[in-house]
This record gives sequence, C-alpha cells and structure tokens, in this order.
Amino acid sequence: MERSTFKRRQLLAGFASATAMGFLAGRFADRAGKPRESNLFETPFTFSDESRTGLFEDESFFFHDWHSHPESASRLMQVHDELSDFKDMKFRKIAVRSSPFQGAAEWIEALSVVHDRKYLERVSEKIDQRDYLTQSRWSPYGGPHARDATYKAAVGTFELASKVANGELANGFALIRPPGHHAGRAFSGGYCFTNSVAYAAKRLVAKNRKPVLILDLDVHHGNGTEDIFYSSPEVTYVSVHQDDWPYTGGIERTGEGAGSGLNFNLPMPLGLTGRSWHEAVEKFVVPIVEKTRPAQILVSMGYDTHWRDPQGSMLLSVDEQMSLVASVQRVAERVCEGKVVFVLEGGYERRATALGVLNTLNRLVADKKAIIKDPLGPAPLGDAQEMAKLEREFAKRLDSARKVHGL
Ligand SMILES: [Zn+2]
Repeated sequence: MERSTFKRRQLLAGFASATAMGFLAGRFADRAGKPRESNLFETPFTFSDESRTGLFEDESFFFHDWHSHPESASRLMQVHDELSDFKDMKFRKIAVRSSPFQGAAEWIEALSVVHDRKYLERVSEKIDQRDYLTQSRWSPYGGPHARDATYKAAVGTFELASKVANGELANGFALIRPPGHHAGRAFSGGYCFTNSVAYAAKRLVAKNRKPVLILDLDVHHGNGTEDIFYSSPEVTYVSVHQDDWPYTGGIERTGEGAGSGLNFNLPMPLGLTGRSWHEAVEKFVVPIVEKTRPAQILVSMGYDTHWRDPQGSMLLSVDEQMSLVASVQRVAERVCEGKVVFVLEGGYERRATALGVLNTLNRLVADKKAIIKDPLGPAPLGDAQEMAKLEREFAKRLDSARKVHGL
C-alpha cells in the first residue's frame, strides 16, 4: 500500500480513538445516542473473494475505547500499525451490520443465547455510559459504542465460524474486542461482559447439531466460558492457563450432568516458557481433540502468554506462541478438516499482541510456508535451577490432569 494512504488510515484510526475520549463522540452517534456507520474507519487489510481465510473486524472495536484502560482500542490499532511488515496476506471480509439491535431489548434478546436475561438487563442499564460497569479493578467499561461492539463481536464471530463450518472458508480470525471469556451466564469480569466465543459456539451447535470444542490459550482461565458450558454435552471446553487470577480452572473441574467429562483444565505454574506450553498442547490438548472429535475448533486466543505482557506471568515468545498455533492446526487437520477459528481474547503488551495476531493470520493464510517474524525474541534467561523446579511441578500437573481424564 502507498505510504500516504497508510498514514492517512492511521490518522483516521487515531481520530476514531479520540472520539471515545469524549469530545468527538457526537459525530459517531445520532441524537438518541445510537452509533451509526461512519466513513472514518478504513482498514489496511487486503481482502479478496479468492481467499479461504476469513477475517472479521469492525469499526466499533476501534470506537469503543478508554484511552488509559489496559483493554483499549490501541490493542487493535497496533495490529494495523505493524501490518506493513506482513505482505501478501489476503482475507475474505466478514462484516456485520449493526441495524437489527439498536434498542436495549434487541441487544438483550440477542445475547440471551448465552447470558441470563436479568444479568443483561442490569448491564444494559449502564452500558451506554462511559463508566466502569462494576467496582472491580478488572471491570469492563461502557460507552456510546459498547452496545454496538459487544453485539457485533458476538454475531460476527458466529458468522465467520459458520462459514468455516459449511466449508465456504477454510479457517478464520475474529479480531474482536472487548474480550469475552471471563463473562459467564450471569457475571462479568476481567474486562469481559459478553462472551463472544460462547455465543458463536452455542449458535453453531444450534445450527449444525455438531459438537464444537473451545480451546482457551489465553494466559488466564476462561471462567466465563467454563460456566456457560459446564453441563453442556455439545460444547467441550479445554483450557491451559497460569494458576493465578481469576483463581478458577482447577484440574478437578471436569463438568457436570450431561457435560460430565467435557471440561478440561490444566493450571500451570507461573514462569514457564513455550517449551512447557508446547508440551501441554501436545500431551493434553491434542489427545482431548482426538478423543472428543469435534466438528470444529474455536480458539479463545490470548497473547498475554508473551514474556513482555504486563498481565501474564509466562515467558513465551511470539515464535513459541506460533508453535502452539501450528499444533492446533495439525490436530484440526486430522480431526475436523482444519476447521479452526481464532478469536481474540487478551494480550496487553501492544507490540507483542500485534505480532502475535499478525503471525497467526499469516499462518492461517500461508500455512507451513509462513515465516515467523519475532523481532522481540525470546525471554531473557532466568535461573536454570528455578526453571527446572517449575518444569518438574508442571510435569506433575500434566500427569495428574491426563490421569483425571483418562488420556
Ligand atoms: Zn487473559
């Protein structure tokens, strides 16, 4: 792309971000406060109907913003900023119109697929105001674009996944925000208040009557997704995460009722590198996928496993994150015709997240020919004895998680 066009787009994206700071908010909303389509958002991605990889993004994910919040639109702007280093990627565009949901009632109706109505009614009272939704320090926030963004994140993820399910697309990435995996049936948390990956999985199952597996590779346990599907026989939940906040995700949590045996957790000691994460995927996740044989895999993908991430305590490099992506692709090829959709969850170190997203996109498009670009490199080496101790503890947990599930 010509540099001037690119720069102009960046300027517009920055301009869009400023709206959520308040002074331009009116330009993106009509008098009733409803967001409207604007001409200010231009994506630097290249789209082609020939591409077999779907990409879903939307202007609302850029306009819903709180400049100083860790979960702000700059997470996605950085992806656009770094894109010029990744050439020749073409995607099929997935777009969702905002028109059907403009009222609170429609928003509640749509998201009640996975959330309790009373919970949604409570959230709905606050969602249009630019304020924290709860008292928690991990609270998500509302604003004039929050309703639009949360609705589109859920519906767009489903539409993308649906096109992969029916073979129209080979795979895809839902580049959405706010994240969703900490939002349960009736609770919010961890910057999440509506659960997009759960919404997509639930609707996929309703539409196709085929089992779906959600693999959660965010550094945090997806307590919301686990909550929603804990007794579901149709959606398997698998999570590898650091054994820390939100203090859920124990090995013994295996599901209940009709969902018994279909909830898989592997809590990891803090401070591990990609070597252990790769082993966790190969020896825990892969056997689960082979055993449960889903028709499709949705990956709740967090890039907060990166060693530079301020909200994670793991030591993965971008290169190591990509080895996890490759393992997931390989098992998906064997089990479900490669039908994988990545859905963005966390990732708070801007550059690491952008590089993680772009390398994942490159792998989806180019497969094994993709060259990994990791200018940030590996984590600085720590104490070898301490690492050996952590790895022994990890081996114990891996062993016990495998035993609990008979893998
Ligand atoms: Zn996270």
